[in-house]
Amino acid sequence: MVIRLKQLYNIVGEKVSIDYTIDDDRLKEVKGFTFSDPITVKGTVMNRAGIVSLKYSAGFTLHTCCDRCLIEFDRDYSFDFEHILVRSLSNDDDSDEYIVTETDEFDMDELVLTDCLLSLPSKMLCREDCKGLCPECGADLNQGGCDHNG
Ligand SMILES: [Zn+2]
Ligand SMILES: [Zn+2]
Repeated sequence: MVIRLKQLYNIVGEKVSIDYTIDDDRLKEVKGFTFSDPITVKGTVMNRAGIVSLKYSAGFTLHTCCDRCLIEFDRDYSFDFEHILVRSLSNDDDSDEYIVTETDEFDMDELVLTDCLLSLPSKMLCREDCKGLCPECGADLNQGGCDHNG
């Protein structure tokens, strides 16, 4: 979704609602991740006392594979994000929190994808206490023991 920023930057109190989905065609381009559903994005961009802040939540379902037992599963995620939009950065601004918009039209898809992927856990587990596979025979230890594991 493209957010038109001109009025948001210029008018204190200006507010734009965000409610859209990032569809499959876009998500197919994301390497290393398979989305089962489009990403739903809901939030607002608002000029509060001259500061333009973007707050949104993103929800999606990822089709993934357990790092321990290799079973495939779908998992739902939902994350909240907040950024401050600026036309340019001064030296003492912390650049992680601030998003510099080069033009008055800001396409937020890329930001949403980056935010979401960075928020995912580094290990994908089918469940917190997944026992994984036996390194000797490959048996799924969630299904019971094998000769190498009680
Ligand atoms: Zn597992
Ligand atoms: Zn075994």
